[in-house]
Amino acid sequence: MLMLDLSKEDLEKLIKLQEIDSKIIKLELKLKELPEEIKRFEEIAQTRRNKIARIDERIEELSQKRKELEKIINENYKKIEEAKKKKAQAKNLEDYKEAIKMKAEAEKSIIKATKEIEKILKELNQLFREREKMETSVAEFERKIAKKEEEVQKTQKMLERKLQELGGLREQLISEISPEVVEFYEEKKYEFGGNVFVPVYNKTCTGCSMQVPSAQYTKLLRGEGLVYCPNCGRILFIENGSRG
Ligand SMILES: [Zn+2]
Repeated sequence: MLMLDLSKEDLEKLIKLQEIDSKIIKLELKLKELPEEIKRFEEIAQTRRNKIARIDERIEELSQKRKELEKIINENYKKIEEAKKKKAQAKNLEDYKEAIKMKAEAEKSIIKATKEIEKILKELNQLFREREKMETSVAEFERKIAKKEEEVQKTQKMLERKLQELGGLREQLISEISPEVVEFYEEKKYEFGGNVFVPVYNKTCTGCSMQVPSAQYTKLLRGEGLVYCPNCGRILFIENGSRG
């Protein structure tokens, strides 16, 4: 690890650089998160579209069933006609009884099929209503997505502009600091995941929440060189206007 003593001026510039870097990280995160909401909306819309597809499958299935039942009804009407003929042409009681039985069975089948069709129609009715609801919802989400996309584009442009500004500020600042000091900062930044310089509040390191020992604290108050937190190793500073 590179150790070096920074001038007060360098320290102030690096703290400023750290502030800029932290803003850049936040903006970049925001930029990345922006399309997330659109993705969520698209997922919901897709779920609804899948539901519509499942409803359509069921509608198709029920329509098929309905056709079959209608065929059964027609066949049984024919059977009734046949039974009537048989009854009229019956030569004995047995034939007569047979014809009556045939007619009764056909009538029973027609009633059963009719009832089933009624049930199917009821379900179809419900499915069509459900389908309409889903379609309205999908359309609503599509509108929301389009609106959100517009918003996101605007925000993206704004954030990109801000990032560019910060990038410019960063470059300007870096040009005012010696390369080894910048290198020192970059190394530390990598080590601590961003926060290299942390303010002390109530004699406590805000990087790790440990109390700063008196020796370090006194050194900090006197402004004598770099003061490291003995616990987490970050560089401590006292913010302007705050004492302790
Ligand atoms: Zn600490």
